[in-house]
Amino acid sequence: MSYVGRFAPSPSGPLHFGSLVAALGSYFQAKSQHGKWLVRMEDLDPPREMPGASDLILATLEAYHLHWDDEVIYQSQRHHYYQDQIEQWIASKEAYYCQCTRRQIKQSGGFYLGTCRDAALTPEQPCSVRFKVPTAIDHFIDQKHGRIAIPKALADEDFIIKRRDGLYAYNLAVVLDDIEQGVTEVVRGADLIEPTGRQINLYHAMKQPEVSYLHLPLALDEHGNKLSKQNHAPALNNEEPIETLLSAMTFLGFDIDAHITSANLDEIIAWGCQNWSLQQLPNSLASTARF
Ligand code: GLU
Repeated sequence: MSYVGRFAPSPSGPLHFGSLVAALGSYFQAKSQHGKWLVRMEDLDPPREMPGASDLILATLEAYHLHWDDEVIYQSQRHHYYQDQIEQWIASKEAYYCQCTRRQIKQSGGFYLGTCRDAALTPEQPCSVRFKVPTAIDHFIDQKHGRIAIPKALADEDFIIKRRDGLYAYNLAVVLDDIEQGVTEVVRGADLIEPTGRQINLYHAMKQPEVSYLHLPLALDEHGNKLSKQNHAPALNNEEPIETLLSAMTFLGFDIDAHITSANLDEIIAWGCQNWSLQQLPNSLASTARF
């Protein structure tokens, strides 16, 4: 089977150093195996999005010469597909409506305890939809880090696939789209380790083979916080990409040859594809970024 990888940014703002690490790691992993590298916009949550961010993200990928294969897919255009699957699972009792509020769940210790599981509610008032977890997935195998355990309370919980406010949940959309796009391996930041078990549950429900997973170290700022828009991570500079590109590659464990520092963008990217290896990738799941 040929390799298909992807980069799936949420357009909540422009790309920053942390997102470049995820883009590059998934790109090198795909291209070093002569695979495809897809880009998918995860524009599922309009209140958290920044107008124009999708185009800015694509312009930045182009400025870094990270050329994607096939058409970019936008999750905002795929609601019918998510809704159809939810309805099938409700009919087969693999999912159900839930009217518990966030406050009620907080009162029961922060985890949902299955209150509406067998209540057969119909959505007369606003309800979320939960996936009925048949078997808790308490670990998975990561290509770099081996066996990664998932906390039991999290693994056991029937999780939300459609929110009470009508928005489709990340876990649902990411799996349905990865299946639809034929993705064979998910490469992403280590902040997405926890939902992996839930996503594996959905592969099983879809009767699809699981993908393989590789989680990249998270880039932290000097205070130990994840680089993010909320923490004011600076946007990548599209005009002068080389220095930041080399910093992101160093962060991913490349031992940058002296001759590469004076090469052009295409040469650097090609060198990265040739020299990429999981052994060189840092063992830690997070480290301070220098850029
Ligand atoms: N859209 C998610 C994010 O930007 C990434 C999804 C994924 O790679 O699974 O955090």
